[in-house]
Amino acid sequence: MIPHITTTPQVVALFSQGLDSILATRVIQQQGLTVQAVKFISPFFGYEIKGCEPEFCRQIKKSYDIDLTVIDLSDSYLTMLAAPQYGYGKNFNPCLDCKIMMLNQARSLAEAWGAKAIITGEVVGQRPFSQRRDTMRRIEKLSLCEGLLLRPLSAKLLPPSQAEECGLIKRELLFDFSGRGRKPQIALAQQLNITDYPNPAGGCLLTDPGFAKRVKTLYQGPLQPSLSELNLLKFGRFYPLENFSGFVMIGRHKEDNQQLLITAARNHYILHLPEMAGPVAVLKGEEKDLAFAAEKLCRHSKARGMTAVKVNWRRENESGTLTVTI
Ligand code: SF4
Repeated sequence: MIPHITTTPQVVALFSQGLDSILATRVIQQQGLTVQAVKFISPFFGYEIKGCEPEFCRQIKKSYDIDLTVIDLSDSYLTMLAAPQYGYGKNFNPCLDCKIMMLNQARSLAEAWGAKAIITGEVVGQRPFSQRRDTMRRIEKLSLCEGLLLRPLSAKLLPPSQAEECGLIKRELLFDFSGRGRKPQIALAQQLNITDYPNPAGGCLLTDPGFAKRVKTLYQGPLQPSLSELNLLKFGRFYPLENFSGFVMIGRHKEDNQQLLITAARNHYILHLPEMAGPVAVLKGEEKDLAFAAEKLCRHSKARGMTAVKVNWRRENESGTLTVTI
């Protein structure tokens, strides 16, 4: 779906919220062009914005004078993650497919809005793989963005884009930044009077080995995991069921417990201990798996060491009690 925007942009910017994408956008705005920034989110990156997108966009406008729209890629991302065409990185991160997906989306938006270029804050050589010159060219080709895509911070090190060739964007006012150093970006930020920019983002949960392993486990099951199942993985201890048929999450503290209750879907079981304060468990599984979930719940509670412990469970209109012998 193409989001409605009020001004017709000449340029679409991929916006990560990091300094580089802020600079790239501002550099093009300084040439007098109208830029529409787009931030893509999924359960693995940027999802903290979900539900408060308008406030977030207002904040970005106020802080950096950048018009932003947020697009949730979750549905297509979850499908892609099952079998990315170009495989996974070191963890369960499908970086090539992910970047291609974002650029494809940006290209569709640019076409729909009549924009003539797409920009990113990428800097040649900043990341070991994805920002290598040859990988950048490959991604550009595979996303059918050749000629359309421009990286203002490294433009002078790369072949000119169509927007530069036709004079829409002045190449001589762009940059030749490269490598991992941040000095040129910090100097440019000062020049543009940008002071309150975020630190380089830790970013994507799929590059976190522990979290990526949980996600991979879910994808080994018979069905594609749902959005709520993937979000549940963020809170607490994780216990997969046999044959990857489901899993149990146990909260480690009050915040986890609250998040598990908010995130659980109607078809998930909720378990708690009626006779003492303690964690909450969420089970994605069947009734036969309740005993396994209850046992894990007891092991992470004050019931540890007791002989018989009551565990209450509920799911939609059903509920019941189990007695666990530890
Ligand atoms: S690190 Fe995550 S968000 Fe970044 S390209 Fe890879 S999969 Fe996509």
